[in-house]
Amino acid sequence: MGAKLLEGKPVADQILAEAAAEVSRLKSKGTTPLLAVVMVGDDPASQSYVAGKQKACARLGILSETYRMPATVSMDELLDVVEGLNRRPQVHGILVQSPLPVGLDEARVVEAIDPSKDVDGFHPLNIGRMMAGRESLLPCTPAGIVELLLRNGIDPAGKHAVIVGRSNIVGRPLANLLSRKGRGGDATVTLCHSKTKDLASYTRQADILVAAVGKPAAITADMVKDGAVVVDVGVNRVPDSKEKKGYKLVGDVDFKEVSKKASAITPVPGGVGLMTVAMLMRNTAKAASGQVK
Ligand code: NDP
Repeated sequence: MGAKLLEGKPVADQILAEAAAEVSRLKSKGTTPLLAVVMVGDDPASQSYVAGKQKACARLGILSETYRMPATVSMDELLDVVEGLNRRPQVHGILVQSPLPVGLDEARVVEAIDPSKDVDGFHPLNIGRMMAGRESLLPCTPAGIVELLLRNGIDPAGKHAVIVGRSNIVGRPLANLLSRKGRGGDATVTLCHSKTKDLASYTRQADILVAAVGKPAAITADMVKDGAVVVDVGVNRVPDSKEKKGYKLVGDVDFKEVSKKASAITPVPGGVGLMTVAMLMRNTAKAASGQVK
């Protein structure tokens, strides 16, 4: 039995259509949403993510501005740019593309963003509101995973969700969302990381297994229960001379073998990554609507 492929595109398209409707409504009232992206350095993966975000903005009629700065930029210069964007009322969303070059304090930069414009949902105020179950701008990848599950008829309620990876942008906020009361939540969550002893003993218990590790084949078939739903967040570039670019993208899951055991699995590329961009567009429309204070 092959696993159902949980493709990002159909669900991302639904969310983009909803965001587009909100953008039209805002425009009819005289507001055109504007997303400002700050990019420091020239990391190739970051450049391709930023290009994807600009493309999505153009598709939805959201204005976008990109501020490119050299890797040598100082913290003060970077904070000045962010504060300038905070002050401009016509800018509704601000994101600083991560990772920042070594030497720049990412947490301080995120804290400098006006929380009502924090469309990545990384500001401590938004994280705190999320944890308290209050209305907020939710982090895009975790919120996108929840939507991908729900809109494929997979309700986490009552399930055992095992997440491998505890970063502040994926694993930890996802653990929070899946264990919240109500829609998209009510799961029992186990959060694993590099210090977890006997990782496979946890992953084999998962009804929903999420891999957010950043290592190809971190999850192999022997670590997966028959019939599990597997969400692969990883995006890893592995050298491949057959590819024009010289590399191919793979996730954290041994897709070929795991898809023989799972009931459903996300592909890489074409899975969670598309959801992340769609949720960013949703957050930008939401920030522009003034629903977030
Ligand atoms: P981080 O590097 O910040 O976190 C990785 C996590 O994996 C850490 O918690 C680490 O543990 C854990 N880990 C590392 N090795 C092991 C291991 N052998 N066993 C168990 N746990 C391990 O990564 P991110 O969360 O930022 O990203 C994870 C992956 O997801 C990356 O490939 C990234 O590119 C991708 N990504 C994809 C997105 C998308 O839209 N599709 C969005 C964001 C990320 P410890 O904390 O102990 O170090």
